[in-house]
Amino acid sequence: MSQITALALFSGGLDSMLACRVVAAQGLRVMAVKFVTPFFDYKLLASREAYQKEIFKKYGIEVFLEDLSDIYLDLLRNPQHGFGKNFNPCIDCKILMLTRARAMMAELGASFLVTGEVLGQRPMSQRRDTLRVIERDSGADRFLLRPLSAKLLPETEAEAQGWIDREKLFDMSGRSRSRQIALAREFGIVDFPSPAGGCILADPILSRRIARIYQGKFIIKAEDITVADVCLLLVGRQFVLPGGGWLILGRNEQENDRLLTMAQEDDVVLSMPVRPGPTAILRRPQAMDGPVSQEDLQLAASLVVRFGRKIKEGSPEGEVRVTAEKETQILMALPLDDTIFQGWAVE
Ligand code: SF4
Repeated sequence: MSQITALALFSGGLDSMLACRVVAAQGLRVMAVKFVTPFFDYKLLASREAYQKEIFKKYGIEVFLEDLSDIYLDLLRNPQHGFGKNFNPCIDCKILMLTRARAMMAELGASFLVTGEVLGQRPMSQRRDTLRVIERDSGADRFLLRPLSAKLLPETEAEAQGWIDREKLFDMSGRSRSRQIALAREFGIVDFPSPAGGCILADPILSRRIARIYQGKFIIKAEDITVADVCLLLVGRQFVLPGGGWLILGRNEQENDRLLTMAQEDDVVLSMPVRPGPTAILRRPQAMDGPVSQEDLQLAASLVVRFGRKIKEGSPEGEVRVTAEKETQILMALPLDDTIFQGWAVE
């Protein structure tokens, strides 16, 4: 019999690593797909090959990345199963990933799917009834094997067909990680990320920014949002100015550099040529024709000075370089008083 291939959903966390290794240990080929969106692991797209090499070297897992961004932006408009504690649509997120993986099976020659889900580990998405909903609504059904909890779940196609020996699978459940850690040791896996995860939609602070868009409380409408908008919304300090301009200020050198790479042609870029301080982008509302108002420009310059490094002597006034449509001007601005701009912050 030719070697059977399994397609695993790989989050990069310990459970998904173990699920891959448990299946591979039975002599099957495991291909792992890591889905990315602007809310999780998006930066990896910039270094696909390096990531693949690192995961293979560290864990012996053959992984590839798949970008789900556009479809995910739509999903957030109305997830059928609602949101978790924050703006995390975990059940629909899993259904979406499995639906996509199910569709990829034929193309990759995979016979079944694998996830690292553990029964009862998470309150919303890993309850027994929810696991059932996820496999049913994704169409994965009997093609989905969860090796870490398989002995507590109905038999799947992989076991029925004899591709996998059920006896060598596990009956893990609950929130304790001790069995996973012991199993990791058996596989020689010692260096793995903490289970905290890196999903922005589950982050109580950052997810609020995303929720604002979908709740119609931001200058961009949910139906118009782009991946670039989401990426920008997650950087630095954010304000919506009285004239409707969206102002983003870097909080450190790294964010300043990042903002420069994210600026679009009709954005205004601000910085201080003499004093250390933030780089900022000012974006006009989509609904507005013409340039950003002079009032917003001046306020943006005052905020750049406010968040610039304070000087002990001399005037608090700062010089701000303002570049718009390839033209540069210098504005002199006093730091804006905190009481004025508190209500403009995007939190
Ligand atoms: S935490 Fe984020 S990535 Fe994980 S299932 Fe929930 S929405 Fe999806």
